[in-house]
Amino acid sequence: MPDDMKPLPKHFTQIRPHGGRLIDRMVTGEKHKNLVARAASLPKLQLNARELADLEMIAVGAMSPLDGFMNRETYDCVVDTMHFPLGLPWTIPVTLSVKPGDNASQYKEGLDVALCDGETVLGVLHLEQKWRPDKKHEAEKVLLTTDEAHPGVKYLQSIGDWYLGGEVSVFRKPAHADFTNYRLDPKETRVLFKAKGWSTITAFQTRNPIHRAHEYLQKCALEIVDGLLIHPLVGETQKGDIPADVRMRCYEVLMANYYPKDRVALSVFPAAMRYAGPREAIFHAIVRKNYGCTHFIVGRDHAGVGNYYGTFDAHYIFSEFDRKALDVTPLFFDHSFFCKRCGNMASSKTCPHGKDDHVFLSGTKVREMLSKGEIPPVEFTRPEVAQILVDAYAKGEA
Ligand SMILES: [Zn+2]
Repeated sequence: MPDDMKPLPKHFTQIRPHGGRLIDRMVTGEKHKNLVARAASLPKLQLNARELADLEMIAVGAMSPLDGFMNRETYDCVVDTMHFPLGLPWTIPVTLSVKPGDNASQYKEGLDVALCDGETVLGVLHLEQKWRPDKKHEAEKVLLTTDEAHPGVKYLQSIGDWYLGGEVSVFRKPAHADFTNYRLDPKETRVLFKAKGWSTITAFQTRNPIHRAHEYLQKCALEIVDGLLIHPLVGETQKGDIPADVRMRCYEVLMANYYPKDRVALSVFPAAMRYAGPREAIFHAIVRKNYGCTHFIVGRDHAGVGNYYGTFDAHYIFSEFDRKALDVTPLFFDHSFFCKRCGNMASSKTCPHGKDDHVFLSGTKVREMLSKGEIPPVEFTRPEVAQILVDAYAKGEA
């Protein structure tokens, strides 16, 4: 029986996309053919890894209601107020830059620009505005630092001095050789959730292997919603992070052995990391709403890097927004661990015992153990996950 003919649970509902409508900027049919032909004669712009990820997310509606790269008014408003000009929450600038050394005068307002990934043209920017942003101001407001060691600040320094804003029309998504079975667009995750009959879904954002602590958060959330979407970020991250393909193997083995099959889904999130901490937590939540999720897990130091953000700043920031406008429900979690005296996973919210009773390993300690081929205690990580990581270290993959 096709999915759309399956009887749905009586009270099935699905959350509306941010702004009310799922954007679709993929062009098809005749339009596609015409645009491909026209793009050949347009001035070309090379997109970097972040811009390619953003282009894909805009095209498939993951960034709804954005239908292109931000214009100046939207950009200024988002940077300064964390909202669009009409008042909808949005915290992260989504911008397209002219590359250093490229002649910005070849891109003219009112004319189209071909958007390229190397030799491949992916679509067209209908250029509305070209301007020079105050990148220092953007860093101060969005990243809360201008320290050149911050990867987001480094990024801003690496791009050119002009931004290009306007709607996009995309005829080819950026090519991905990896995780092709796990690349679901918002339209597809929404169909999946409907087929499963899930009205309430919590998304879990991650760029790390899942150890017991995060498994615990997910399962606490799963006690109160219909389904869990494990949504690992596979776009650009930092050197030193565990590679995405190794992480995917960890998620698969965890799902196969420790999660009920009818209540969990795994799909990859194509976004690039901004390391914007609290602002990125809001962004991650909004974008997951577009994928059809009603809840979003926010742990400690979400989307943080180094010591730029306070441990719970990504929780506090949610209080600065009208919850109705945000719509998606954040689930805040503290640091969790296995407590020997409680005899279970717990957090400071649920366990009265001291550190000596808790199984705690620092990230550095875990990496040290794994690289020596040692398996951390089962209270810290599932043995199947540990084995994958040990093998990855042995092969030099991690
Ligand atoms: Zn305890």
